[in-house]
Formats: sequence, C-alpha cells, structure tokens
Amino acid sequence: MADNLCEVCPKTGDQRCSRCRQVRYCSHQCQRAAWVKHKLVCDSATEFNSQDRPTPDAAEVYYRRALLFDPEKTKPNFIWLKFKLEQVDGHFVEQPQLDAVGIDEPDIEDFMIQKHPVLDRTLPHTIRLRFRDNFLSDGSKANAPVQSLKTKHDWRGPMVAYAMKGTEGIEDLRESDDLDATDFPSIVSFLKVYGDERPLTTTRITNEDLKNMSPAERAGGIIFDSATGSFYNSAGRRL
Ligand SMILES: [Zn+2]
Ligand SMILES: [Zn+2]
Repeated sequence: MADNLCEVCPKTGDQRCSRCRQVRYCSHQCQRAAWVKHKLVCDSATEFNSQDRPTPDAAEVYYRRALLFDPEKTKPNFIWLKFKLEQVDGHFVEQPQLDAVGIDEPDIEDFMIQKHPVLDRTLPHTIRLRFRDNFLSDGSKANAPVQSLKTKHDWRGPMVAYAMKGTEGIEDLRESDDLDATDFPSIVSFLKVYGDERPLTTTRITNEDLKNMSPAERAGGIIFDSATGSFYNSAGRRL
C-alpha cells in the first residue's frame, strides 16, 4: 500500500510484519488481530521474491505478482501472472492470461475492489478478482483457500486476484500492477460481504460503527447477513 497506514484501524502503522515486511500495524494489538488472516499469505509473501520475476519471452508481455486461490491447495499463493498487451474496444490493455491458471471458460466473472470494504479506505490501485462464471454448474471443485475464510458463498474453481494501476472506471484501467500482502485484507473483506446487493463501493460502515469495533472486528470478523441486510460483529451484535 502506498501510504503508511495500519492494516486494521485508521491510525498510522509504524510497525511492519517482521517476516514479510509488507503489512503495517500501529500496535501489537492490531497485529495480533490481523494475524489470523495475514498468516495465510505471510509465508508466500516472504518466499516470493521480486528478483525471480520471469523475463518476458516476447515484446509486450509482462509478469505481475498476483494471488491465486487454487482449489488443490489449502492457502492462497502468490504467483507470477502473465499479461499481454491486447486491443480491447479500440484501446490497448494489458490483459491477464487467465487460462494458464485454470480460468478457462468463455464466461469469466470480473469483480473490482477499489476500497477497503470495512475501513472505507481508497486503495492505491484496483484489485480485480476473476473466476469461472459457471463454477456452481460446471463441476468445479470447492475452493478450499476461499472457503477457509468462512465466506457464506459456495466458492468453487480457481480464483485469481491481480491489480491494475489506478482507481478509475474499468475502461481506464489499462496497466497491470503487482499485488502484495497489503491487498489481502480488502480481498478477504470483499469475499465476506459478497452477496450484498449494493455495489461494493457503497458498502460501508459508518465512522461511529468503526469506533465501536474491536481490532478483531475491523480485521475481518465482520459478517454480512444478506437475509437481514445488516452487518454483525463476531459476537453477533448488529452494526
Ligand atoms: Zn491499528
Ligand atoms: Zn507478514
């Protein structure tokens, strides 16, 4: 993340995770609260080295760090995702080569995340989540890395998260960007609130709600109940 904010609360984060050196926290309390989710990507983020970025084998090919939720694994893993400059509706756009990660149907779902859904914080770039559109009916295997986040939805098949520079409308997002562990909390929160009928960018909790939340709640313990249309904290209190 381009700024120096705590991953869990609105304060400045002067302490970094000592292993991956990517995510920031204001206090041990916030770090402890975040660890239950951060531990899923910290090892992969630590082992994943920018110096290992593949050399493009052709002009207008790029490799970017992305996060793959592979149904054959138990945790998400960072990968190098290949992008190619392609013409789309008269514009040149760096397009991810999704068939290489098993997202191989004609219909591919595409979600954009531009704000942290709980902290209501604008992200430094746009995160895109891509997966098979028909994963419930095409025989796709349950996605254990996603379902382990205790999402309500029955996610199946491979899912990849990658980043595009900028936070404008989709047609202005043309350049790919590296994703890192600081993007993970927004992805987790998104998957937890998925099913809400409101567009993500308007899904928000008020500042008053935020003040009353514990760090654990802000770190992703928030549950959205689509039946009642409300957010609940981990103790079942309506927000
Ligand atoms: Zn904090
Ligand atoms: Zn870490």
